[in-house]
Amino acid sequence: AEPLAVSARVAPLGSRLVMLLVEDLTEARRIEAVRRDFVANVSHELKTPVGALSLLSEAVMDASDDPEAVQRFAGRMQIEATRLTNLVQELIDLSRIQNDDPLEYAEPVKVEVLVDEAMDRCRQQAGSKDITMAAAGAEGLYVWGNRGQLVGALGNLVENAVNYSPAQTKVGIAVRRVADASGDMVEIAVTDQGIGISDRDRERIFERFYRVDPARSRATGGTGLGLAIVKHVVASHGGEVTVWSTEGQGSTFTVRLPEAAAARDRGRRDSDTT
Ligand code: ADP
Repeated sequence: AEPLAVSARVAPLGSRLVMLLVEDLTEARRIEAVRRDFVANVSHELKTPVGALSLLSEAVMDASDDPEAVQRFAGRMQIEATRLTNLVQELIDLSRIQNDDPLEYAEPVKVEVLVDEAMDRCRQQAGSKDITMAAAGAEGLYVWGNRGQLVGALGNLVENAVNYSPAQTKVGIAVRRVADASGDMVEIAVTDQGIGISDRDRERIFERFYRVDPARSRATGGTGLGLAIVKHVVASHGGEVTVWSTEGQGSTFTVRLPEAAAARDRGRRDSDTT
């Protein structure tokens, strides 16, 4: 009823102004609804591992004369505690990147280093599933931005590629330079041969806490925040992230970031003189 009341009051000022005010109110309501959903989601996500920990600690107490069972419950408690730690860490990351301007302390970042560090984060897990990771094309390219945030974002994409792929498959990272309407960009494409994502889910996976299969995501320690963080980091660097996927065959997540051309030229000059 509020937008109507406002429109009645300001109608003499002209219908355009009224439209703007109504749109403003609708947007404010949308933002408020998103905030409320977020708080509800966070509460739910925190309650799940805490509830599990509480039940498991009771189980440990009841099984005090069965060392094997105690061992098993303790193992599960560790998993839940890790999940809780991941969730809290990602919530902190999300709130930090939403409040900070990543470009305030931006520097030219070597894409090769970015890709190596992102892959390092997933090496152990890839190894345990016998997944091969390979990267190509990053040599000599630089992007402009906050190194820590960019490694985190790219690491998330590689981590997902490994998580949502069966054993003995490949994860590839292909880097190239492209020119688009906003200038020279560096494109980083992470391709997997995993489970893929349906058209319907593809539209929603970048939302906070959205998971296609919550049980599977939780089993791999996923929080449902990873892609929301990726999207935010990439957008705040003046880039964009897109996804292409065929269900059952695999997915490609492509990130485009503004190139730091000056840093590339300097690198070239330095290597010319050395
Ligand atoms: P999560 O912590 O659950 O991995 P993300 O925000 O990183 O959360 O991803 C959201 C959802 O998108 C995942 O739960 C998964 O269902 C889907 N997804 C993300 N990356 C991939 C991928 N490479 N292949 C298949 N599904 C993916």
